[in-house]
Amino acid sequence: MAFPPYTEEHAAFRASVRAFAEREIAPHAEEWDRAQAFPRELFRRAGAQGYLGVRFDPAYGGSGLDYWYTGILIEELMRGRNVGVVVSLMVQCEIATGVIHAFGSEALKREWLVPAIRGERVAALGITEPGAGSNVGGIRTTARRDGDTYVVNGSKIFITNGTIADFVTLAVRTGEPGPRGISVLVVPTDTPGFGVGRKLRKVMAHASETAELFFEDCRVPARNLVGAEGEGFTAIMRLFQGERLVLSYIANSWMREILDAALEYAGGREVFGMTLTQMPVWRHRLADLMTELEASRLLTWYATDLLCRGDAAGEVYVSMAKLYAGELFKRLAPECDQILGGYGCMEEYFVARATGGISGFAIGAGTSEIMREIIARRRLGC
Ligand SMILES: Cc1cc2nc3c(=O)[nH]c(=O)nc-3n(C[C@H](O)[C@H](O)[C@H](O)COP(=O)(O)OP(=O)(O)OC[C@H]3O[C@@H](n4cnc5c(N)ncnc54)[C@H](O)[C@@H]3O)c2cc1C
Repeated sequence: MAFPPYTEEHAAFRASVRAFAEREIAPHAEEWDRAQAFPRELFRRAGAQGYLGVRFDPAYGGSGLDYWYTGILIEELMRGRNVGVVVSLMVQCEIATGVIHAFGSEALKREWLVPAIRGERVAALGITEPGAGSNVGGIRTTARRDGDTYVVNGSKIFITNGTIADFVTLAVRTGEPGPRGISVLVVPTDTPGFGVGRKLRKVMAHASETAELFFEDCRVPARNLVGAEGEGFTAIMRLFQGERLVLSYIANSWMREILDAALEYAGGREVFGMTLTQMPVWRHRLADLMTELEASRLLTWYATDLLCRGDAAGEVYVSMAKLYAGELFKRLAPECDQILGGYGCMEEYFVARATGGISGFAIGAGTSEIMREIIARRRLGC
């Protein structure tokens, strides 16, 4: 059996997303990064194509498909070569809305999920706080019940879409310390007391908007509670499965774009009478990277397969896929940057922008490869 188990429907969906990325993202990718701002209109355009509710129930405007389609969506959107844009879109259609889709009341779905799927209302997910990141159970933002409202106080940091969101799917403390006192609340950003502290400037994914958020006596209707009180932590942990899979696809696709660009450069660049791809040392390093990227993609696909089949092993494989892809990026990016020599530090080159020109010190005053040649000749005598 072919793996992944793609059908003609998958191929048609892939072709449609690829055309969208080539038309709507690629021509503007550099400009949006320079502006460090997300083009809000893109939500509507993606929504009109049905890309913001791929896995969601058709009753709310979704397509009722599965993670294979989410994976294809990411693989093809990334061809537009703007990782920040894809991160923002995925927060909108998976990361911030998944909990509402899975656990929200009918009214919440109608009010927030439906317009989010259409791209008319922008979503953000607020979990991380200045004092609690990995330790989600340690969040301190409180929501105190007062009649038929919750009064929210606290702050969040690193929130994607934070500056442009119409609502935040917010992790709050409604009870005892620790995971069991956590709930999830939908907070409209026009609620008095809500504020964006500052837009955070990042050194990567420039086009996604990232912000610090503040909540000061924000009164939110009690009906905005997602699921039951105290069940927020469990809901968030379940949501993380999808979020981690999404991140694996984004990382793999970003590496594919970087490696493709590096290979194209290497194939055309002559040094000492041969192209870089003809040089044994680079051929082997590139072969290693191609192999590792393929392994990363296969692991992500395997995790997708398990999640789609509802196999309990999916949880650990999703973590493996995310771990492998994230760590591979840290090896692949500098290698791809290195092969560009000095051009790997020049903003006009995609590889340089995508890797932050990480190899600068290993290029100037004689590259690392030339240093190795000198050392080898002197010490090995040949
Ligand atoms: C671009 C970007 C976008 C983001 N978007 C969002 C968003 O939309 N919404 C949101 O809620 N959050 C968002 N985040 C926040 C992200 O989820 C957190 O940064 C992440 O969970 C880590 O938390 P932290 O930064 O507080 O690091 P910490 O938890 O303080 O970790 C610091 C270091 O300690 C290590 N560490 C922590 N615990 C352990 C342990 N038990 N054992 C060993 N080592 C440990 C970590 O691995 C890390 O290396 C975003 C972050 C970034 C960079």
